[in-house]
Amino acid sequence: MTNTILLVEDEEALSSYLVTELQFEDYQVFLAKDGEQALNLYDNNRGTLDLIILDWMLPKLDGLEVLRRIRKNDDIPVIMMTARDYIGDKVAGLDSGADDYITKPFEIEELLARIRVILRHENRHPQESSLYTVEDLTLNTKSRQVTRGNNLIQLTQREYELLLTLIRHGGETLTRDELLDSVWGVDFEGQPNVVDVYIRYLRNKVDRNYPHQLIHTVRGIGYVLTGNYQE
Ligand code: CA
Repeated sequence: MTNTILLVEDEEALSSYLVTELQFEDYQVFLAKDGEQALNLYDNNRGTLDLIILDWMLPKLDGLEVLRRIRKNDDIPVIMMTARDYIGDKVAGLDSGADDYITKPFEIEELLARIRVILRHENRHPQESSLYTVEDLTLNTKSRQVTRGNNLIQLTQREYELLLTLIRHGGETLTRDELLDSVWGVDFEGQPNVVDVYIRYLRNKVDRNYPHQLIHTVRGIGYVLTGNYQE
């Protein structure tokens, strides 16, 4: 199966290099050179696109604004590409719904590896149920909405992926490494304690204000989500 990528990049030398490399890897590529063209190409090819590689600094509409508009009704994977490497920008990108983030200059192999991780992740559970209910927690994989009791819970992309992984393996203890591979990808090179940090974020949103805790630490091993599942 050929995957289709929308590449949004205004720098001519970089974009033609990336198009060549992506086509060499058998991806079908659409190229947009500014934010408006990106949204037009996205609108016209929505049904066939599998992934968007989106530069941050663009003419007309910047990458963050393009991402915000796409995210209003689509969870297509997006890799943000930027020359900036301030941690605040990275957080803004991820909070706006980017699935990954790559800082220029980068090795083409690094970008290709991230693309493979994301597409593998997308294709892994094509038929699965769209609604999980555990006690008073619900997670809808179509709308990406999470609720607990009557409250809508706002999660970042990573928090959502982490919760989804725990819910899919309900009652099963997952190690930090398993969570890292599943949520951050096998090519992740940071510290494994990023898992503990994100579990803390998740607990603050999902568990802290509720009498019954669902996410539990299994000392020395990892984490487990327990509770009564409803079909
Ligand atoms: Ca640019």
